[in-house]
Amino acid sequence: MNPEHPPMPVRRLHNYSYCKRLFYLQWVEDLWVEDADTAAGSHTHRNTDKPSHWGENLDPSERSSLRSLSLESETLGLRGVIDLIENTASGREIIDYKKGTARRDENNHRIAKENDCLQLAAYAMLLAEAGMPIKKASVYYAAEKSRIPVPLTDSLFQTVRDTLAEARALAASGVCPPPLLDDPRCLHCSAYSICLPNESAFWSGTSKAPKTTEPPRPPGDQGEIIVIQDAKAYLGCRGGEIQVRLNEETVSKHPIEQIQAVYLYGAVQTSTQAIHSLLERSIPVAYFSPAGRFLGTTSGLPQSGIDARLGQARLFNSPQHRLPIAREMIRAKIHNQRVLLMRNGSPPDLILKQLADLRDQCPDAKDLDSLRGIEGAAAAHYFRHFKTMLKGTAGENFDFEGRNRRPPNDPLNALLSQGYSILAKELTGICHAVGLDPFIGVFHQPRYGRPALALDLMEEFRPLIADSVALSLLNRQELGTHDFEHTSKGVFMGDSGRRQFWRAWFRRLDTEVKHPQFDYRMSYRRMLDVQTRQLWRYFRGDAQTYYGFTTR
Ligand code: SF4
Repeated sequence: MNPEHPPMPVRRLHNYSYCKRLFYLQWVEDLWVEDADTAAGSHTHRNTDKPSHWGENLDPSERSSLRSLSLESETLGLRGVIDLIENTASGREIIDYKKGTARRDENNHRIAKENDCLQLAAYAMLLAEAGMPIKKASVYYAAEKSRIPVPLTDSLFQTVRDTLAEARALAASGVCPPPLLDDPRCLHCSAYSICLPNESAFWSGTSKAPKTTEPPRPPGDQGEIIVIQDAKAYLGCRGGEIQVRLNEETVSKHPIEQIQAVYLYGAVQTSTQAIHSLLERSIPVAYFSPAGRFLGTTSGLPQSGIDARLGQARLFNSPQHRLPIAREMIRAKIHNQRVLLMRNGSPPDLILKQLADLRDQCPDAKDLDSLRGIEGAAAAHYFRHFKTMLKGTAGENFDFEGRNRRPPNDPLNALLSQGYSILAKELTGICHAVGLDPFIGVFHQPRYGRPALALDLMEEFRPLIADSVALSLLNRQELGTHDFEHTSKGVFMGDSGRRQFWRAWFRRLDTEVKHPQFDYRMSYRRMLDVQTRQLWRYFRGDAQTYYGFTTR
């Protein structure tokens, strides 16, 4: 096999015929997400996915059907898995299962979609190549329970060959096609949340004004986050469910497809089977020390996204290209610190003015060291007046003389450190999921074990997420001084405190906020993802600049 031109999966030809950008993202960049539609597609295939095998002890002529048959041809440059081949009185027929509906012709008759026809013709070519010519093909559309025939014509076979040649040429070009605009195909596209067509057009400068006020799909964040902090707990897997056991008793069961992430504190035991099942579905498992320090994550292979990673490495070696991005991140951070202080505290007007001045100096910072100076000066002002945001008894019970860490030596610093640690974890996971290297940053210097890019991305969100969670927990009196443990190694939250913390954390991540450019509302959790994808585009060379997230 030519390693430069491995046989292309027939489903990628199907993608190409649907949208060239979709093909590029999935075949060249190997980026994909499982969304509700693809999950439904897998469900549609469940009855055909008991594979048959070609050759040896299998004579297709003596069987009524073959299922999930894998074929590959170096001559054709194609490979694929055929859902079903049926032997009927009128000959053999290939059937492909689709979850959606057929399209209608001008006479309102149901006909198969063009890309579905292409896929079936490619399968027929693979079968002919393997010595099993097929005369009939059809698509079964599950949504309307109808089987629509596909005429296998010479011109359709030629279209397969032409499409394959075009797709290979596009892949070799190394240029990702621009997104479709105002196109109904995007509404049903499984890669929408990766592609972000309207946002990408704006970031690239092709569209001057934001093209949309509709938040990108998926609208919310489906899935449950399981947090286990009892050291006697055991995480297992049985029959497609993740189960949590305590003292030999099952205390909760979670269908695996409904889980978004698992967070484990301390010595929680897990079964290999549970970890395998979570990895297979790209569900990350994050590990924390008993005191709440983030230790690391078990996750599947990161998205490849070669173009963005190469761009990220190139940019790292070019401080003049890193600087504009770092300036914008720190500008957004100081803006958001000022807004939080203005809304919730009572700082002197002079401090607000100084913060505004420091924010406005960011775009002119001449190098990264000057920017660090601006950021440090703003942080000093902000934390000097942080305590003015504590209300009522919180202000009396919690002292705060500025930031201290490693280890934190007062409860409020312990709370802030916990929030920053979790935020860094969230963004490290998002960088992996998006296809970026979380350890190569633009503002933070690389250091062993430090996710510099995640730390960069979290700058603009520190005040809005981590600081807000801390203030809300104390001002609502959801946490008191008794929820913290003072040890010789520093001050840490106890179990009850951490339970409250997670409630407030998820509440904050689910809070919807207005996007500064697109005017739509989306949760902070989605906003973290969208900002990371924006940076991904910049690294790939698809975006002209980076817009930090700011609140009004
Ligand atoms: S969202 Fe639209 S432009 Fe983007 S890959 Fe899908 S169909 Fe193509």
